[in-house]
Amino acid sequence: MKRCTKCKKYLDINMFSWANKKKGTRQCRCRKCKSKNYFENAENISKKQKIWRGNNKEHLKKQKKRYYEKNKSEIAAKCKTYREEHKDYLSDYFKDYYKLNREYILNRRKQYRMNNKDKVNNINAGRRVRVLDQSPKLTDMEKKRIEFLYEISQLLGDGWKVDHYIPIAEGGAHHPDNLWIITTEDNLKKGAKLDYEIEHDMYFEL
Ligand SMILES: [Zn+2]
Repeated sequence: MKRCTKCKKYLDINMFSWANKKKGTRQCRCRKCKSKNYFENAENISKKQKIWRGNNKEHLKKQKKRYYEKNKSEIAAKCKTYREEHKDYLSDYFKDYYKLNREYILNRRKQYRMNNKDKVNNINAGRRVRVLDQSPKLTDMEKKRIEFLYEISQLLGDGWKVDHYIPIAEGGAHHPDNLWIITTEDNLKKGAKLDYEIEHDMYFEL
């Protein structure tokens, strides 16, 4: 039992949130008083938190990373379920994003192509040949899945790429099971690596 400094009631210890879990210390106000206080002062609190977050960016980054490392598989499973359950919502969301930023996205892409004409041409030509070489016979459904992936990627815009999970260069097939959409950043980092792990939930599979 512990006494809440606000409502003065003696309550079960679990009615108090942790102040510091490692040290085993609890907060002095009970959960109910805390949440009441929160709702009454929501605006002030969120302002304060915002300032605190701004001043502690590095700390938060490290904390987030530690948490992620500890809970990797659990997080991945949760993300997967979330994506499966919200497929329609996500696709609508990305469509809306694309619609709202269409001009900006298209301009940026155009600009990039203009500045890198040779590079873009070489990449595309080389890829086309290799992709054709390694295309297995696909059913109509599989073709649809591939088409859909490329459509989504287009809707997502500039920062995204349809990527071969096992790279074509390593013998991966141009088959929907071997395709996913990842960020351009991950695509660059991944290169032809076979064991590249994406450390966040910014990818999309069908
Ligand atoms: Zn209380």
